[in-house]
Amino acid sequence: MKAAPLPSFENDRLNVLREYEILYSNQDASFDELTALASEICEVPVSLISFLDADIQWIKSSHGIDLKESSRDVAFCSHAILNPTEIFEIDDSRKDERFHDNPFVTSTDTKLVFYAGVPLLDDSGLPLGTLCVIDHQPKKLSEFQKNALKALSKQVVKLAELHKKNLEIAKYANENERLLERKINERTKELIATNTELKALNKQMEQIMYIASHDLQEPLRKTRVFLDMIKLKFMDRDLPLTLIEKMEHTSERMESLIKDILNFSKINEFNTENEEVNLNELFGILKSDMQLLVEEKSVTLKVNNLKDVKGDQNQLYQVFSNLISNAIKYNKNKPIIQVKGREIDGQLIDREGKFYEISVVDNGIGFDTQFKDKIFDFFQRLHLKNEYMGTGIGLAIVKKIVERHQGVVSATSIPDEGSTFQVYLPLK
Ligand code: ADP
Repeated sequence: MKAAPLPSFENDRLNVLREYEILYSNQDASFDELTALASEICEVPVSLISFLDADIQWIKSSHGIDLKESSRDVAFCSHAILNPTEIFEIDDSRKDERFHDNPFVTSTDTKLVFYAGVPLLDDSGLPLGTLCVIDHQPKKLSEFQKNALKALSKQVVKLAELHKKNLEIAKYANENERLLERKINERTKELIATNTELKALNKQMEQIMYIASHDLQEPLRKTRVFLDMIKLKFMDRDLPLTLIEKMEHTSERMESLIKDILNFSKINEFNTENEEVNLNELFGILKSDMQLLVEEKSVTLKVNNLKDVKGDQNQLYQVFSNLISNAIKYNKNKPIIQVKGREIDGQLIDREGKFYEISVVDNGIGFDTQFKDKIFDFFQRLHLKNEYMGTGIGLAIVKKIVERHQGVVSATSIPDEGSTFQVYLPLK
């Protein structure tokens, strides 16, 4: 037996072959169809597609025989690739000095007598392996069969190229996916960091607001005491009373501003503990606390029977106290205020689960609906302060408290007819 010499282009050939990543790849029905077709056309029982590695021939597809690989020394394919452009045909291997004692020839299992192999050429003409047909008796291929085998060999290379491209696409997709995943992770980390930073800044700001407003109370209290002292001490004199009244009025405004800022900055200090809040009871307290104002302004305040909700009683008291005070304040007639509740599906407010809607409806001056979101912002006022006293903080407090209860606030209005403020609290 004579082993085939290594071709001069062996290194290049191996490099190209490895680029295909076809060695040891999974079984593929498309290759099997080609070996079956080769056997049929050439009228032989056995057909193989083999790729020739440095030391072994690896069989990608076998028809009529169960063969996975063999040593390169005994492979007929090693001879076939030496002349890449020709079909390598051995009519009777038993009579060929290179093959008569080859184990494929002598073995009763393989009983290889006739062999014809077409080199599988890549674009640059380098042979990767062969498509070969085998018979157990001597044979000669017709011209038609040779041409058909050559055509089939080109199809084999096309399939190998497709395999290579598919791998490249899969690698590219994987890489892109990994890249995207990495970018998402990085972005998420950045967002978390910014969020933490913002939360810390927010907390810091609220602390400053709290300290500043708290400390401002003292000098303000003193100013008011001094004003009272001036009035008392110089009672019999000709005092510029309007000026003093103006000063009193200004300090009053400053007092309510400081009180509101203080209230706003204190919201986060309380836990929105999930205590059961009886809203009927809450409105009962609110009515009695507001009794004087209600009588003074001839207010009709009608509260329907309401469900219990979960939350912080004091904070929710502040929410409804602000809303009712506004309903009384922003009114030119005798205020008629109605409070009603109903259960709604969260979808109505782009949320999941069930919610309890509490509406505060008034017959006041109303506002232009285009400002329905703006009015919940800090210091946002739609009406002049000499007409309606206020700080522009009340609704910001309402919004902050409701959001801390995982709820939503909204408002609708028709100018000169009235407004409706809705508070949505989750029903857990
Ligand atoms: P304030 O009442 O101290 O000005 P708010 O934050 O409570 O501040 O309200 C913001 C603004 O929203 C008010 O200045 C007013 O213009 C408008 N507003 C609030 N409640 C009503 C209401 N019930 N009817 C009409 N306008 C209202």
